[in-house]
Amino acid sequence: MWFTYVLRMHSSGGLSFVHLGERFGSPQFVYDLAVIRSDVSALRSELPDGAGIYYSLKANPNPGITKFVVDDLGCDAEVSSQGEVDIAAQCRPGLARMLYTGPGKTECELRFALESGVSIFSIESAAELDRLSAVTGHNKRPVKCLLRVNAAVEGGGASFRMMGGSGQFGIDEHNIGALGMHQVFDGNVEVAGVHLYSVSNVASEEKLTAELLKSVKLAERIERAIGTRFEFVGLGGGFAAPYATSEKRIGYRGLKSALEYALDQAFPDWRMGQPRVFFESGRHLVGRSGTLVTRVLADKRIRGQRFVVVDAGVNVIGGMGALGRTLPIRPQIESPGGEPATVVGPLCTPLDVLARKVFLPSLQAGSYLTIPAVGAYGLTASVLGFTSRPQPVETVVDGDKILEATKFEIRRVPVDSGGLAQTG
Ligand SMILES: *Cc1c(COP(=O)(O)O)cnc(C)c1O
Repeated sequence: MWFTYVLRMHSSGGLSFVHLGERFGSPQFVYDLAVIRSDVSALRSELPDGAGIYYSLKANPNPGITKFVVDDLGCDAEVSSQGEVDIAAQCRPGLARMLYTGPGKTECELRFALESGVSIFSIESAAELDRLSAVTGHNKRPVKCLLRVNAAVEGGGASFRMMGGSGQFGIDEHNIGALGMHQVFDGNVEVAGVHLYSVSNVASEEKLTAELLKSVKLAERIERAIGTRFEFVGLGGGFAAPYATSEKRIGYRGLKSALEYALDQAFPDWRMGQPRVFFESGRHLVGRSGTLVTRVLADKRIRGQRFVVVDAGVNVIGGMGALGRTLPIRPQIESPGGEPATVVGPLCTPLDVLARKVFLPSLQAGSYLTIPAVGAYGLTASVLGFTSRPQPVETVVDGDKILEATKFEIRRVPVDSGGLAQTG
């Protein structure tokens, strides 16, 4: 993790992080819409003309961010839980174009989504197609499903692969033909396209282009195998973003022309929206927008070793630690000088270490540190329930304007008996 101490004490519009910390409290995630606006528009210019972009709420479900990305920037919402449906439902286009994804959707979840108005589902197994068909039976209109297909293709450069090999996502390409197509023809479910999502966080333009070109071919093969005209072709994503380091945006300038050429071959009418081609991303859209502001509680020495204690622990910025996303920590320090310190959080565990060997000047209690580029897989990917602390403040700003400061709560509520009906 990379602490930019003093170097970046202001938002893109010049708001002082110290001022925000004093005003709304610490720890505080500050999300800057100006950064999101610029990163989304840059990505749009690198994708085929007219292609849609789905925003994966998984990366950051903050309602202020979600509304901005959907209502103002014209992305659609990709959701994978009831909570995400509720958040995305507050956006202007509502649920009509929302895509519901995930490898293990329960009946209860599907029913909830349908009743809320979601009408496009990614389907990852024959069993799930059955469940969707059964649940839709109660509904009047046919529901659109996109087959998530897992092609055993080679590729690399991703922080982790979603498809290929033994990954758990999607339906094996070889099983598409054997899929219980009766559900499709009972009028409850319509196979409207494919949802391909094979890689995540690919910083190499060459590798990502190769991967997405494979998706075009795969989509074409499946359309032929199924024998219907697709309405939607989701080619995937994999657009990278820095995490906790203040790097520039990662760009994909050559992607657009390569993809447009391949799409012209595979889907001659795609420019007319037949099918509607879309991509999806979480981290690339919002990752760089987030800064964690944390207050210093102590700067002390224990048997010669220096510890800087701050009020943000791994409970708020453990970000997918279990998935190896942030651990082991490899601090890249842009040092303003000073002596090496281990930066630790406030939790009563020796595991609450944010970074080691960070060169920091001597710090007064009450001063602030910032961690850049934690807008995706930051807060809600952390172990928020651990040690029962209050949740951090989340502030949404746009350049020099403060738009909102909120926090969510984890609450205990009574549970009725009701078995399966309660789960999902
Ligand atoms: C997680 C996920 C995404 C977003 O991934 P990023 O790496 O944040 O872009 C997109 N689509 C699907 C299906 C996902 O599961």
